[in-house]
Amino acid sequence: MKLVTFTDPQSGRTRVGRVESDGRIQDLTATVGARTLRDVIEEWDRLGSAVASATDLPVVDAPQLRPPIELPRTLYAVGKNYRNHVQEFGRSGYDNPDLSTDIPTVPVIFSKVPSSVTGPFDAIDPHQAVTSELDYEAELAVIIGRGGRGISREQAMDHVWGYTIINDVTARDQQRDHQQWLIGKSLDTFAPMGPWAVTADEVGDPARLEVSATVNGEPRQKALVSDLIFDIPELIRTISAGITLYSGDVIATGTPAGVGISFTPPRFLQPGDVVECAVTGLGALRNTIGAAPK
Ligand code: MG
Repeated sequence: MKLVTFTDPQSGRTRVGRVESDGRIQDLTATVGARTLRDVIEEWDRLGSAVASATDLPVVDAPQLRPPIELPRTLYAVGKNYRNHVQEFGRSGYDNPDLSTDIPTVPVIFSKVPSSVTGPFDAIDPHQAVTSELDYEAELAVIIGRGGRGISREQAMDHVWGYTIINDVTARDQQRDHQQWLIGKSLDTFAPMGPWAVTADEVGDPARLEVSATVNGEPRQKALVSDLIFDIPELIRTISAGITLYSGDVIATGTPAGVGISFTPPRFLQPGDVVECAVTGLGALRNTIGAAPK
């Protein structure tokens, strides 16, 4: 099942919808009320079957898609989680100060502030007063269903509600200069998310999914999720060892090779560029570098 958060242009209300097989979006307000998708996921044990079986729902005309989880309680991310990306990042000199191409022995977990989240087709603010080194990172993102702490590898997939796509947009100069990635990865609009939230049962084994990115139609990134150095159960085990995971928390699992800094010279994003990030079965983000959405 594919669910979305959308704004109805007629009423101006933001609601949860269900994507039908023909691509139309049906309004689930009659089933879930004014709940956010994060709330629906938190109450999934009670609401999930009703959401799946609801019929005769109104079709929304020209819905504006919002990020499926508009304000995750925490947006986790993972650095250097594909081998080829570790190599290119180390070579680039941006991994200040150690220039390491070593494969990490434990997951490199960081977070993006939740307010960096923006819609799947919104403009990415180039923040030209802050950065001149804007880069993209296509990533599979995990949406946590049932929260918990001390989750084992064996139990981990039971805590995955579903999946979406995140572009982990990064200001490379800020990432390098601050030697801590929060600022460089958290500028407003630096986390396009969506277009849908797809349930785990529809996705099946995430390892077979392909993550890809293009810039102005030119292929830049392509890899299988099976190439992850630390897989999804390991990420959940690591984070939840001492931090409680909550429903609707999102984990961006890392990006494969082919980001802008892998080129010589680097190919940073410029105003007007269009970056698309896709994952098998999860749709695609399409964001223009331009003015921030109003
Ligand atoms: Mg990333």
